[in-house]
Amino acid sequence: MTDLSAPLPTYAGVQSAAARLAGVAHRTPVLTSTTMDESLGASLYFKAENYQRMGAFKFRGAYNALSRFTPTQAAAGVLAYSSGNHAQAIALSARLLGMPAVIVMPEDAPVAKLAATRGYGAEVVLYDRFSEDREAIAARLAQERGLTLIPPYNHPHVMAGQGTAVAELLEDVPDLDVLFVPLGGGGLLSGSLLAAKALAPGCKVYGVEPAAGNDFQQSLRSGKIVKIETPKTIADGAQTQAAGDLTFAVVRQLVTDIVTATDEQLVDALRFYAERMKIIVEPTGALSLAAAQNSGIDIKGKKVGILISGGNVDIAKYGEFLSRGL
Ligand SMILES: *Cc1c(COP(=O)(O)O)cnc(C)c1O
Repeated sequence: MTDLSAPLPTYAGVQSAAARLAGVAHRTPVLTSTTMDESLGASLYFKAENYQRMGAFKFRGAYNALSRFTPTQAAAGVLAYSSGNHAQAIALSARLLGMPAVIVMPEDAPVAKLAATRGYGAEVVLYDRFSEDREAIAARLAQERGLTLIPPYNHPHVMAGQGTAVAELLEDVPDLDVLFVPLGGGGLLSGSLLAAKALAPGCKVYGVEPAAGNDFQQSLRSGKIVKIETPKTIADGAQTQAAGDLTFAVVRQLVTDIVTATDEQLVDALRFYAERMKIIVEPTGALSLAAAQNSGIDIKGKKVGILISGGNVDIAKYGEFLSRGL
């Protein structure tokens, strides 16, 4: 996993990604809520990446990475292993760029996710999570077919692409005091930090992990990457076991702190988004608001950015969250 030859991305990389994404990714809206502003005594600005193409910010990093393939790489195609938003982001980006995509997914992945990934034109290779090793399968496919593997977060072009969402937010609201960003493997947070450091150096930036899976918080405290068991949480986009070496290097240098939110707090935030703001947010996407509400960080009288990272949620499960909690 460690690739010491890979340079850390910089803000110039974020700007370059923004140029690639112009006219391809949506410039998502920044929403406000008087109700939440009054409740928290602050001014909140919600960057709505649930309205991004394929329903999450991950399109930004995937497209940026694929758009930089050499002609030889593009002709052979891209490989990813994921059952979540990264799979759909790679599949859609590959289709837009006219290259083949192979996605390795567990055979018990949700049917809707398999269908969505195939719907974007990707070839799905299934494996048995209990008896087969997806990394070995991916390595074999990459070798046999000359595919280029794009990981979901630990890659300079992915990290730089993810940073374009916060760059847009800070263009629209230049003087944010505080920013909350959902955190899994750290691609989104590291890109966001590069953008914030360049555009709003005084802004405090917090990563928000699920309380059940605070590996990044532990890593930050101990100064080295801590690996945990796959956490049990409804925030399925942040069920990562460990930071990447590249994401960790950027985050530990620039982040203000990492805080956590519980599943109960996420459900409350989902309800608020649905009832008051009329928007569908996935549990991982609600980490940022849950932290603004519950983390104890002083936001009174401040301008606060809330990154809503995505809106892809199984609709039956979503109904359960709204109607009877967990
Ligand atoms: C992937 C994902 C995250 C976490 O992003 P990282 O770059 O892994 O930290 C957060 N929210 C959603 C909706 C995601 O799909």
